[in-house]
Amino acid sequence: MECPVCESRLKHEKIEEVWVDICQEHGVWLDKGELDRIMESSKYRGQSEGLVRGLWSHTHSQF
Ligand SMILES: [Zn+2]
Repeated sequence: MECPVCESRLKHEKIEEVWVDICQEHGVWLDKGELDRIMESSKYRGQSEGLVRGLWSHTHSQF
């Protein structure tokens, strides 16, 4: 998959059993519902909440 903005190749990474596509320039691209699955993971509640917020702020959900 390529970044819809800059068309560079996205990095495919697994976060909490959910595969996400990451552009170094434009952040994380998630399918609708994928962020919910990450958020629902207990590991990302509490101590890693900041990470999820960070992800969310860079997330584009137009897919
Ligand atoms: Zn990009």
